[in-house]
Amino acid sequence: MTYDYLIVGAGLFGSVCAHELTKKGASCKVIDRRSHIAGNIYTEKVNGIQVHRYGAHIFHTSDKEVWEYVNQFAEFNNYINSPVARYGDELYNLPFNMNTFSRMWGVATPEEARAVIDRQVAEAGITEPKNLEEQALSLAGRDIYEKLIKGYTEKQWGRDCKDLPAFIIRRLPFRFIYDNNYFNDRYQGIPIGGYTQIVEKLLEGIDVETGRDFGKDVMRLPDLDHPDLEDGLFEMDGDIFRRVIYTGMIDEYFDYCYGPLEYRSLRFETQELPDVDNYQGNAVVNYTKREIPYTRIIEHKHFEFGKDSETGEPIPGTIITREYPAAWENGMEPYYPVNNEKNAQLYEKYLMLASSRQNVIFGGRLGMYRYFDMDKVIRAALDMCASL
Ligand code: UDP
Repeated sequence: MTYDYLIVGAGLFGSVCAHELTKKGASCKVIDRRSHIAGNIYTEKVNGIQVHRYGAHIFHTSDKEVWEYVNQFAEFNNYINSPVARYGDELYNLPFNMNTFSRMWGVATPEEARAVIDRQVAEAGITEPKNLEEQALSLAGRDIYEKLIKGYTEKQWGRDCKDLPAFIIRRLPFRFIYDNNYFNDRYQGIPIGGYTQIVEKLLEGIDVETGRDFGKDVMRLPDLDHPDLEDGLFEMDGDIFRRVIYTGMIDEYFDYCYGPLEYRSLRFETQELPDVDNYQGNAVVNYTKREIPYTRIIEHKHFEFGKDSETGEPIPGTIITREYPAAWENGMEPYYPVNNEKNAQLYEKYLMLASSRQNVIFGGRLGMYRYFDMDKVIRAALDMCASL
């Protein structure tokens, strides 16, 4: 059979593309090297609890069209992410807001909080922040930087805050009201019954094969009608594909010919605790001390308010996951692109190479080497499909 598209990666980007292109009348086949679909948003029900196998995923967006799009495939609950940060025995609400300031300095009003921060910012004396440490000190002052940012960030990114770009913490909101909602977006929630069903529905009626590796299983063939094209056609098991949508690592596609891009990886340690009904009282607790080797503990049942989404019954026992950041090495899962200057330059070189491959489109967090949230992934996939 001849297909219009081979989509490499059954994650969110690949699945939205497969769905949209099929709707437009194209023939698609989706492959994934893992043994399951859904990429990093894969969730799996264990003892009534939806376990987020590749880290917590909380859907949030201000893009109404994207929100309506995902709501076709699942009903979302009213979960609002309100992580708690733990620094030794001190517990603070996130994001930085009046609850955090009040706990840290005993202040009650925005004016009092502002005064403490202004004093600490002035003491730091930074006018033009050149790195993450300077950015944090000039925004939040020393107490917040040392207790809530420094240790967490250095664990997460594996380097000193002085060697990290300032923009990373611009993701963290800062506000002078008593509001623990981590996100500023208009829409937020967790799909009732987990994320995997969304991808199942996106891929309904489409040929999907898991456990298939592009590098090992797919041959690149010359296109005899267009012999000048590099990577003209693709072949797998006798089937021919006219184009590839590749959502894996862009540097891997090109055999790391300019050297590897950097990624951060994570190691998840999941524990089932049948005798504990409520381990930490919150879905997400961040551990901000450098000495604790993990960055956070997720207690999955709280994403669905401790109830089985099908029966509505309270779930006995609990499941927690500790998240350990790690440097990425070949064979590990790449989770975060490391978007610093060096990698941006290297990525540009791969992008030039990519533009010479008319029949290959790169997409998603790894194909586009961007710290994308789920809604941005869907937006990028929808826009790309509309342009094809
Ligand atoms: N961050 C921090 N302290 C925290 C949580 C986050 O300093 O308790 C910083 C850290 O540098 C991190 C960034 O904020 O890399 C973004 O965090 P976020 O929780 O948005 O990351 P994600 O959930 O995507 O891993």
